[in-house]
Amino acid sequence: MLTTNRSRLKQLQSAVSQGAKLLQHLLLDVVCDATCVVCRETLSTKQSGVCLECSQHFVSAPLPAELLKRVANEESGPLHTVCALYGLYPQAPFFEVLHAIKYHHTMDLAAEMGRRLGQFVRYSSRPVDGIIPIPLHPARRRERGYNQSECIANGIAEVLNAPVYCNVIRRARNNTTQTDLKHSDRKANVSGIFTLRSDASVPCGHMLVVDDVMTTGATILEAIRTMNCVSKDTIFSIGVLATTGKQ
Ligand SMILES: [Zn+2]
Repeated sequence: MLTTNRSRLKQLQSAVSQGAKLLQHLLLDVVCDATCVVCRETLSTKQSGVCLECSQHFVSAPLPAELLKRVANEESGPLHTVCALYGLYPQAPFFEVLHAIKYHHTMDLAAEMGRRLGQFVRYSSRPVDGIIPIPLHPARRRERGYNQSECIANGIAEVLNAPVYCNVIRRARNNTTQTDLKHSDRKANVSGIFTLRSDASVPCGHMLVVDDVMTTGATILEAIRTMNCVSKDTIFSIGVLATTGKQ
Protein backbone atom coordinates (compact mmCIF):
# COMPACT_ATOMS: atom_id res chain seq x y z
CA MET A 1 0.00 0.00 0.00
CA LEU A 2 2.83 2.35 1.00
CA THR A 3 4.65 1.60 -2.29
CA THR A 4 1.47 2.30 -4.31
CA ASN A 5 0.96 5.64 -2.53
CA ARG A 6 4.58 6.61 -3.09
CA SER A 7 4.32 5.79 -6.77
CA ARG A 8 1.08 7.81 -7.08
CA LEU A 9 2.70 10.72 -5.26
CA LYS A 10 5.65 10.55 -7.66
CA GLN A 11 3.28 10.59 -10.65
CA LEU A 12 1.39 13.53 -9.16
CA GLN A 13 4.62 15.49 -8.55
CA SER A 14 5.72 14.80 -12.13
CA ALA A 15 2.33 15.95 -13.52
CA VAL A 16 2.39 19.18 -11.43
CA SER A 17 5.94 19.98 -12.50
CA GLN A 18 5.03 19.26 -16.13
CA GLY A 19 1.97 21.47 -15.93
CA ALA A 20 4.05 24.30 -14.43
CA LYS A 21 6.61 24.04 -17.25
CA LEU A 22 3.89 24.10 -19.92
CA LEU A 23 2.20 27.11 -18.28
CA GLN A 24 5.54 28.95 -18.20
CA HIS A 25 6.05 28.37 -21.93
CA LEU A 26 2.48 29.41 -22.77
CA LEU A 27 2.82 32.61 -20.72
CA LEU A 28 6.13 33.43 -22.39
CA ASP A 29 4.45 33.01 -25.77
CA VAL A 30 1.70 35.44 -24.78
CA VAL A 31 3.90 38.03 -23.07
CA CYS A 32 6.81 38.03 -25.53
CA ASP A 33 6.78 38.26 -29.28
CA ALA A 34 7.51 34.88 -30.87
CA THR A 35 11.18 34.60 -31.77
CA CYS A 36 13.18 32.36 -34.11
CA VAL A 37 14.60 29.40 -32.15
CA VAL A 38 17.91 29.70 -34.05
CA CYS A 39 18.75 33.44 -34.29
CA ARG A 40 16.25 34.79 -31.67
CA GLU A 41 15.00 37.51 -34.04
CA THR A 42 11.30 38.41 -33.81
CA LEU A 43 9.17 36.39 -36.21
CA SER A 44 6.54 37.79 -38.51
CA THR A 45 3.02 36.53 -37.87
CA LYS A 46 3.23 34.15 -40.84
CA GLN A 47 6.38 32.39 -39.57
CA SER A 48 6.30 29.54 -37.11
CA GLY A 49 9.34 28.86 -34.91
CA VAL A 50 12.10 29.53 -37.46
CA CYS A 51 12.66 32.62 -39.60
CA LEU A 52 13.00 32.37 -43.36
CA GLU A 53 16.68 33.30 -43.33
CA CYS A 54 17.63 30.54 -40.86
CA SER A 55 15.51 28.01 -42.79
CA GLN A 56 17.51 28.84 -45.89
CA HIS A 57 20.73 27.90 -44.08
CA PHE A 58 19.52 24.39 -43.21
CA VAL A 59 21.45 21.85 -45.28
CA SER A 60 19.49 19.20 -47.17
CA ALA A 61 19.79 15.58 -46.06
CA PRO A 62 21.11 12.90 -48.44
CA LEU A 63 18.56 11.80 -51.04
CA PRO A 64 16.05 9.01 -50.19
CA ALA A 65 17.77 6.45 -52.46
CA GLU A 66 21.09 6.98 -50.69
CA LEU A 67 19.51 6.80 -47.22
CA LEU A 68 17.64 3.64 -48.20
CA LYS A 69 20.93 2.01 -49.22
CA ARG A 70 22.46 3.13 -45.92
CA VAL A 71 19.85 1.71 -43.54
CA ALA A 72 18.02 -1.17 -45.26
CA ASN A 73 19.03 -4.67 -44.23
CA GLU A 74 17.53 -8.15 -44.31
CA GLU A 75 15.86 -7.64 -40.91
CA SER A 76 14.10 -4.43 -41.93
CA GLY A 77 11.93 -6.31 -44.45
CA PRO A 78 10.25 -4.47 -47.30
CA LEU A 79 11.39 -0.87 -46.85
CA HIS A 80 10.05 1.41 -49.58
CA THR A 81 11.96 4.62 -48.96
CA VAL A 82 13.72 6.76 -46.36
CA CYS A 83 12.93 10.50 -46.38
CA ALA A 84 14.86 13.03 -44.31
CA LEU A 85 14.63 16.81 -44.59
CA TYR A 86 17.90 18.10 -43.18
CA GLY A 87 21.48 16.92 -42.73
CA LEU A 88 23.19 17.13 -39.34
CA TYR A 89 26.85 18.02 -38.94
CA PRO A 90 28.74 19.60 -36.01
CA GLN A 91 27.16 22.95 -35.07
CA ALA A 92 24.37 22.60 -37.63
CA PRO A 93 21.75 25.31 -36.88
CA PHE A 94 19.03 22.67 -37.17
CA PHE A 95 20.20 21.26 -33.79
CA GLU A 96 18.52 24.33 -32.22
CA VAL A 97 15.22 23.30 -33.81
CA LEU A 98 15.57 19.70 -32.60
CA HIS A 99 16.41 20.88 -29.08
CA ALA A 100 13.40 23.21 -28.99
CA ILE A 101 11.10 20.47 -30.27
CA LYS A 102 12.37 17.98 -27.71
CA TYR A 103 12.72 20.07 -24.57
CA HIS A 104 10.88 23.41 -24.90
CA HIS A 105 7.29 22.37 -25.59
CA THR A 106 7.39 23.89 -29.09
CA MET A 107 4.70 21.57 -30.39
CA ASP A 108 3.64 24.08 -33.08
CA LEU A 109 7.20 24.06 -34.42
CA ALA A 110 7.22 20.24 -34.47
CA ALA A 111 3.95 20.26 -36.45
CA GLU A 112 5.35 22.90 -38.85
CA MET A 113 8.45 20.75 -39.45
CA GLY A 114 6.11 17.78 -39.91
CA ARG A 115 4.23 19.68 -42.62
CA ARG A 116 7.53 20.39 -44.41
CA LEU A 117 8.43 16.70 -44.18
CA GLY A 118 4.95 15.78 -45.42
CA GLN A 119 5.46 17.89 -48.56
CA PHE A 120 8.79 16.18 -49.18
CA VAL A 121 7.31 12.69 -48.67
CA ARG A 122 4.42 13.52 -51.00
CA TYR A 123 6.82 14.14 -53.89
CA SER A 124 9.38 11.43 -53.06
CA SER A 125 7.30 8.40 -52.22
CA ARG A 126 4.32 6.33 -53.24
CA PRO A 127 1.07 7.34 -51.46
CA VAL A 128 1.12 6.82 -47.69
CA ASP A 129 -1.79 4.97 -46.03
CA GLY A 130 -0.88 5.76 -42.42
CA ILE A 131 1.73 7.31 -40.14
CA ILE A 132 3.24 5.60 -37.09
CA PRO A 133 5.27 7.81 -34.71
CA ILE A 134 8.05 6.16 -32.68
CA PRO A 135 6.71 6.04 -29.11
CA LEU A 136 8.52 7.32 -26.04
CA HIS A 137 8.73 5.16 -22.93
CA PRO A 138 5.70 6.05 -20.73
CA ALA A 139 7.99 7.40 -17.97
CA ARG A 140 9.78 9.72 -20.40
CA ARG A 141 6.50 10.82 -21.95
CA ARG A 142 5.12 11.65 -18.50
CA GLU A 143 8.23 13.63 -17.70
CA ARG A 144 8.20 15.54 -21.03
CA GLY A 145 4.42 15.87 -21.25
CA TYR A 146 4.28 15.04 -24.97
CA ASN A 147 5.90 12.92 -27.67
CA GLN A 148 7.63 15.12 -30.24
CA SER A 149 7.37 12.37 -32.90
CA GLU A 150 3.58 12.41 -32.52
CA CYS A 151 3.55 16.20 -33.06
CA ILE A 152 5.67 15.75 -36.21
CA ALA A 153 3.37 12.93 -37.38
CA ASN A 154 0.32 15.18 -36.91
CA GLY A 155 1.93 17.81 -39.17
CA ILE A 156 2.67 15.18 -41.83
CA ALA A 157 -0.90 13.88 -41.57
CA GLU A 158 -2.30 17.34 -42.38
CA VAL A 159 -0.40 17.35 -45.68
CA LEU A 160 -0.84 13.71 -46.68
CA ASN A 161 -4.38 13.42 -45.35
CA ALA A 162 -3.50 10.07 -43.76
CA PRO A 163 -4.35 8.75 -40.25
CA VAL A 164 -1.81 8.70 -37.39
CA TYR A 165 -1.57 5.41 -35.48
CA CYS A 166 -0.17 6.02 -31.97
CA ASN A 167 -1.21 2.71 -30.45
CA VAL A 168 0.42 0.03 -32.57
CA ILE A 169 3.67 -0.40 -30.64
CA ARG A 170 4.83 0.62 -27.19
CA ARG A 171 8.29 1.23 -25.82
CA ALA A 172 8.77 -1.50 -23.26
CA ARG A 173 12.25 -0.47 -22.16
CA ASN A 174 13.63 2.98 -21.42
CA ASN A 175 16.97 2.43 -23.14
CA THR A 176 19.97 4.64 -22.55
CA THR A 177 20.89 7.25 -25.13
CA GLN A 178 22.35 6.01 -28.42
CA THR A 179 24.57 9.04 -28.92
CA ASP A 180 27.86 7.70 -27.59
CA LEU A 181 27.52 4.09 -28.76
CA LYS A 182 29.28 2.30 -31.62
CA HIS A 183 27.13 0.96 -34.48
CA SER A 184 27.09 -2.64 -33.17
CA ASP A 185 26.35 -1.47 -29.61
CA ARG A 186 23.47 0.68 -30.84
CA LYS A 187 21.81 -2.38 -32.36
CA ALA A 188 22.18 -4.32 -29.10
CA ASN A 189 20.96 -1.32 -27.09
CA VAL A 190 17.63 -1.24 -28.97
CA SER A 191 17.04 -4.98 -29.28
CA GLY A 192 13.56 -5.80 -27.92
CA ILE A 193 12.76 -2.25 -26.76
CA PHE A 194 9.40 -2.24 -28.59
CA THR A 195 6.45 -4.59 -28.18
CA LEU A 196 3.17 -4.76 -30.03
CA ARG A 197 0.19 -3.51 -28.08
CA SER A 198 -2.14 -6.38 -27.34
CA ASP A 199 -5.22 -4.32 -28.25
CA ALA A 200 -3.96 -3.17 -31.67
CA SER A 201 -3.01 -4.65 -35.02
CA VAL A 202 -0.53 -3.38 -37.59
CA PRO A 203 -2.44 -1.50 -40.30
CA CYS A 204 -2.09 -2.83 -43.86
CA GLY A 205 -0.71 -0.78 -46.74
CA HIS A 206 2.16 1.70 -46.85
CA MET A 207 3.07 2.96 -43.37
CA LEU A 208 5.43 5.87 -42.74
CA VAL A 209 7.33 5.39 -39.48
CA VAL A 210 8.28 8.79 -38.07
CA ASP A 211 10.93 10.05 -35.67
CA ASP A 212 12.69 13.38 -35.13
CA VAL A 213 16.26 12.22 -35.84
CA MET A 214 17.92 9.18 -37.39
CA THR A 215 21.60 8.34 -36.99
CA THR A 216 22.26 4.68 -37.83
CA GLY A 217 18.53 3.95 -38.03
CA ALA A 218 18.82 1.21 -35.37
CA THR A 219 15.83 2.46 -33.30
CA ILE A 220 13.44 2.88 -36.23
CA LEU A 221 14.51 -0.43 -37.80
CA GLU A 222 13.84 -2.19 -34.49
CA ALA A 223 10.31 -0.70 -34.44
CA ILE A 224 9.74 -1.89 -38.03
CA ARG A 225 11.18 -5.33 -37.22
CA THR A 226 8.73 -5.62 -34.30
CA MET A 227 5.77 -4.87 -36.59
CA ASN A 228 7.11 -7.03 -39.43
CA CYS A 229 6.99 -10.06 -37.14
CA VAL A 230 3.20 -10.05 -37.32
CA SER A 231 2.31 -8.27 -40.55
CA LYS A 232 3.32 -9.36 -44.01
CA ASP A 233 0.80 -7.04 -45.71
CA THR A 234 2.49 -3.84 -44.69
CA ILE A 235 5.25 -1.96 -46.47
CA PHE A 236 7.20 0.52 -44.39
CA SER A 237 8.96 3.77 -45.14
CA ILE A 238 10.89 6.01 -42.79
CA GLY A 239 10.38 9.75 -42.36
CA VAL A 240 12.63 11.88 -40.14
CA LEU A 241 13.31 15.58 -39.80
CA ALA A 242 17.07 15.15 -39.78
CA THR A 243 19.84 12.64 -40.23
CA THR A 244 23.60 12.64 -40.07
CA GLY A 245 25.51 13.43 -43.24
CA LYS A 246 24.75 16.12 -45.79
CA GLN A 247 23.96 16.19 -49.47
ZN1 LIG B 1 16.30 32.91 -37.51
